[in-house]
Amino acid sequence: MEPEKRHIGFNKPYLTGKETDYILESVKTRKISGDGLFTKKCSEYFERRYGFKKVLLTTSCTDALEMAAILIETKPGDEIIAPAYTFVSSVNAFVLRGAKIVFCDSEKDNPNIDVNEIEKLITPKTKAIVVVHYAGISADMDKLMKLAEKYRLFVVEDAAHSIDSYYNDKPLGSIGHLAAFSFHETKNVISGEGGMLVINDDRFSKRAEIIREKGTNRSAFFRGEVDKYGWVDIGSSFLPSDIIAAFLYAQLENLDDIQKRRREIWDYYYEKLKHIEKSGLIKFPVLPEYAANNAHMFYIICRNLDERNRLIEFLKSKSVYAVFHYLSLDKSPYYRDKHDGRSMPNSDRFTDCLLRLPMYYELSREDLDYVIYHINKFYGENT
Ligand SMILES: *Cc1c(COP(=O)(O)O)cnc(C)c1O
Repeated sequence: MEPEKRHIGFNKPYLTGKETDYILESVKTRKISGDGLFTKKCSEYFERRYGFKKVLLTTSCTDALEMAAILIETKPGDEIIAPAYTFVSSVNAFVLRGAKIVFCDSEKDNPNIDVNEIEKLITPKTKAIVVVHYAGISADMDKLMKLAEKYRLFVVEDAAHSIDSYYNDKPLGSIGHLAAFSFHETKNVISGEGGMLVINDDRFSKRAEIIREKGTNRSAFFRGEVDKYGWVDIGSSFLPSDIIAAFLYAQLENLDDIQKRRREIWDYYYEKLKHIEKSGLIKFPVLPEYAANNAHMFYIICRNLDERNRLIEFLKSKSVYAVFHYLSLDKSPYYRDKHDGRSMPNSDRFTDCLLRLPMYYELSREDLDYVIYHINKFYGENT
């Protein structure tokens, strides 16, 4: 018998309950611009827990990536190697500084950049490699860092999906020269909008503070290191209000609980859909042995575009919202004429066939069973 109808959205931002308490506390300090009480608490939390050398909260991951592009001195003529299967911000930050993006295809069984394809794309103009750990599953970082060292390239980790995930025993975001995280409401821990820049190479620390403070040495001034503050470099306003950090801190205090629940949901989908994968109708994410799973996302790979779209429509008719993801950026209206024309078959396949299932803290066992029932039903009727 068909289960009773439920409405299951794709994402629902989770609130731990302390967010508004901490916001009030921040407001009462009367220091609600950036670098206040909670901004410090959040940065220290990340530095302590993950051993990041230096953390600067930013207004978004997009802004952290723009800071990274400025810090590595991206200029017109530079080439940046990046996956085609990613969000716009991973590459737009570098395009804003005049760079050319050299897209690289995904691995065959994983949307991450195919590290074995990178070396042939390197030219004397290459400045950096952007790596995106898709769904929080690490790219092949040893191989990537060796390549970067050999050719003296910077590595920027777009770690937007990657909070609390690991490459072997190294936290993601601690490996590249710079890393950018997102606390957008669709990620594991959130502040509505928000992000952070992680600086793992000391050369960038001082300048990063300046760029984040509109090109001024305001941070050094408030620490008493300089006796007046002024315009010393280029920059912008990348510093979030302490109110945003207050919200984020409530989330960080509950990070372990959030991660535990997301992993349970991930494992439940995996167990209950395994038989469909076994029969070859769908594929699951492949987790390389060096990669941890932070349960940012549960996705399946359908056999083709038509079947994926029919599954989306079928689930929607049952009030379940499963969604596709990136559209290969080499084919985007903005970049297709600038792309050098190489084909990206794996990225194209993920564009056409990848489907993300609802994933959020408050999904109940009954919700999950409802989603799983209808996926089973779809494949029962379509094979
Ligand atoms: C969410 C996301 C971003 C952008 O994050 P914002 O904080 O919204 O700017 C960048 N890259 C990837 C891979 C993302 O998923």
